[in-house]
Amino acid sequence: MKKTELQELKKKLFYKKENVFDVRTKKDEKSLEKYSKGYMSFLDNAKTEREAVKEGIKMLEANGFVAYSIGDKIEKGGKYYYNNRDKSLFAFTAGTESIEKGVRICAAHIDSPRLDLKQHPMFENEGFAYLKTHYYGGIRKYQWVTIPLALHGVVTKLDGTNVEITIGEDENDPIFCITDLLPHLAREQSQKPLGTAHTGEGLNLLIGSQPIDGDIDEKVKFNMLKILNDKYGITESDFVSAELIATPAGKARELGLDRSFIAAYGHDDRVCAYPALTSIIECKDSEHTVMCILADKEEIGSEGVSGMKCRLIVDLIEEIAKCLGGNPNVVRANSMCLSADVSAGYDPMYPEVFEKRNSAIVNCGVVMNKYTGGGGKSSTNDASAEYVGFIRKLFDENGITWQTAELGKIDVGGGGTVAMYIANQNINTVDLGVPVLSMHAPLEVIAKNDLYETHKAFVAFCK
Ligand code: MN
Ligand code: MN
Repeated sequence: MKKTELQELKKKLFYKKENVFDVRTKKDEKSLEKYSKGYMSFLDNAKTEREAVKEGIKMLEANGFVAYSIGDKIEKGGKYYYNNRDKSLFAFTAGTESIEKGVRICAAHIDSPRLDLKQHPMFENEGFAYLKTHYYGGIRKYQWVTIPLALHGVVTKLDGTNVEITIGEDENDPIFCITDLLPHLAREQSQKPLGTAHTGEGLNLLIGSQPIDGDIDEKVKFNMLKILNDKYGITESDFVSAELIATPAGKARELGLDRSFIAAYGHDDRVCAYPALTSIIECKDSEHTVMCILADKEEIGSEGVSGMKCRLIVDLIEEIAKCLGGNPNVVRANSMCLSADVSAGYDPMYPEVFEKRNSAIVNCGVVMNKYTGGGGKSSTNDASAEYVGFIRKLFDENGITWQTAELGKIDVGGGGTVAMYIANQNINTVDLGVPVLSMHAPLEVIAKNDLYETHKAFVAFCK
């Protein structure tokens, strides 16, 4: 064969990963910059699942979605959202086609790894006041010391009212931090393995040092409680019924001389939650019945009333089916889901943990994970060839830049998503999302290119 023929044939037979920079248009470039700005402001306003629910409702209401309660009537063409205890959010549009054709679901999560306050958090030690934390999700403890931290959350008082607290995000606010040893005296600590140098019980927030005036013991703690009581009307007992969360303080920032990245806390999984929201909004008049799920508790196993293992998803599909005249079991059997979650971005600084051929390459678009889990494909939804084939065709037809990956080298580690809990309800599901660098760190990194391709992919799926 001639060289040109061979080149042609090679192009036909070989797979080649596309880089968004090579294929994106000027128009795309403009849209992705605008889209990224919207995403960054979402990040700044939605650092916890509660804040993300609030922010999500704001976006949905601005686009004609109305609050729905279980038992309400659902009408064809209607746009609804279900606020599940302020912790998780279900938005859905009732399409014009037969409901028995199934629901198109994009399911992301809005909880992120962080430090939760214990129920009896406050103590005084040698003139300093602290708050004890219990870390939430998979954190690398050494990353959470000596960084600015903010407090977010709610306190439910005995009279049943909620007090909302945010301290450390406004630039005039104070911040908090966990101290660490100086290198001069860390000879012993520095010899410890990374995972044991800091302990869970050692992650205590420094919150103050000024004592209350007068002759009384625990003067510093006393003063802290007085400050909180003056401002929020709470007492030490109220911590028992509170959800107070320490997150990294500060806003999302563009990263790089070319501003091609976004650095922020909580990309996992707001970087998929935001596209899930924007795509249902963009496709609100789709003929399909579309559902966007923003779940809580993914980082700690998806348990509980706000996690994806809760049967609420089944209840809602049953309610929709009932109102639109379909058999709910048929509806689920014909439904499809994109489990919208992040993937481990290939990091050239740590090539040893990746198998590059099957890695999520940053700037190469939205990532499909046919399976996640750990060694030997345990604990995963392994999507079928047919379902992957359907999605593949859909993306190719819609000009989406996409790739497939698995989570690092076999037996190096592993991880899961909500995919299997949705698939367990007899709903075809595959993982789809954005590659992230430094996942679960206080500062995670993503590329704007991948964020925007993810939005486009969800739109192609929902429309
Ligand atoms: Mn995630
Ligand atoms: Mn995660």
